[in-house]
Amino acid sequence: MIEDLFVNLCIVTTFVLIYMKTRWGRRETSNRPWISNLIDGLCGSVLGLILMHFSINVTSEILADLRYIPMLLMILFIGKKPTYITTIFIILSRFLFGVNSSSYSAAVAFSLMLMGYLIINHLFEKGDNLLIRGTYMVFLSNILITGVFYFLIKDIDVLLHLIGVYWIVSTIGGVTSILLVNYLRTSEYLFRKYKNESTMDFLTGLKNVRNFDSVWTNSKQLSAKKGKALSLIMLDIDHFKRINDTYGHGTGDFVLMEISRIMEDVVGNRGSVFRKGGEEFAIVLPTFTKSQAAGISERIRGRVERHQFLINDELKLSITISIGFVSYPESVSETEGMLDKADEALYKAKENGRNQVVSW
Ligand code: GH3
Ligand code: MG
Ligand code: MG
Repeated sequence: MIEDLFVNLCIVTTFVLIYMKTRWGRRETSNRPWISNLIDGLCGSVLGLILMHFSINVTSEILADLRYIPMLLMILFIGKKPTYITTIFIILSRFLFGVNSSSYSAAVAFSLMLMGYLIINHLFEKGDNLLIRGTYMVFLSNILITGVFYFLIKDIDVLLHLIGVYWIVSTIGGVTSILLVNYLRTSEYLFRKYKNESTMDFLTGLKNVRNFDSVWTNSKQLSAKKGKALSLIMLDIDHFKRINDTYGHGTGDFVLMEISRIMEDVVGNRGSVFRKGGEEFAIVLPTFTKSQAAGISERIRGRVERHQFLINDELKLSITISIGFVSYPESVSETEGMLDKADEALYKAKENGRNQVVSW
């Protein structure tokens, strides 16, 4: 008996791992929530079905298993709607394993269980102590399932033995699965957070140079393959060292942030802005022709030139930038080497007296 329930426990953990790897994170990015709810509800249902399949037959009619766990995990971690789907499915599919007093009493017990879960969830909604909330749910489930066993099993020895084993395995199984999902959820969250931060520049909030390398490589390959236009802008602040030296590093940082906002504002979602390092920036503009790239470069240059950098009540700075850009396929016949060419154009802009846009 204990072996069978242990198998149930292993199924739950395996399923949770597969679910977290394949489904977790898809919910937030899905733009059709009802499809997400349906898929998640069905995942819970499938787990319920598998658990029932591997349940222990106490008598020919009674199934003892941990099929409440998918319902519990659904309501704790995912949401009410998928929980309703899972519960309805678990209740109805029980009848596939036999229409008898056992399946009817399971229907009653699982309906009451769902109501109990909703009440517990409601009582705890504000505090976020998942483990305590989950443990109450596990106990509620144990009590209701014990009620079903009590109602169905007449042999007192079988009944006591089953209840003893069930409480132990179910409590361990319920609590373990809550801890497991919570652990996986936290690691997944941290992993994504760090991944995100590793590609971001802390000061300006722009994408960083590491991100630039991968985006630029992809953009080049895509343009070359599809024969689509591609432009690359390199941008450098003029005499930035003087700003630092005269007004301090803090003021320099402020200027970097302000210029970043101007670039993002002008570029919008038509391209990506990167901080390449220090006071140098790159802008990748997929599908942008030479004249479009010249237009956007000139708009950024003009906006920065006109911008009043308000350092404090008395101090307003005017700052200029130099820009070099290159466009495929008008200025170059291949995308390889565009980076060096944009750099050369930027160098030319500096050489020609700064505060200007130069095309390679
Ligand atoms: P040019 O017009 O030729 O570009 O002159 P420049 O002074 O802008 O160029 P240079 O490369 O000589 O100086 C860049 C300066 O940028 C030097 C460095 O102290 C400063 N810098 C680099 N990163 C940061 C940063 O994160 N914050 C601040 N405040 N300054 C930075
Ligand atoms: Mg500079
Ligand atoms: Mg520089």
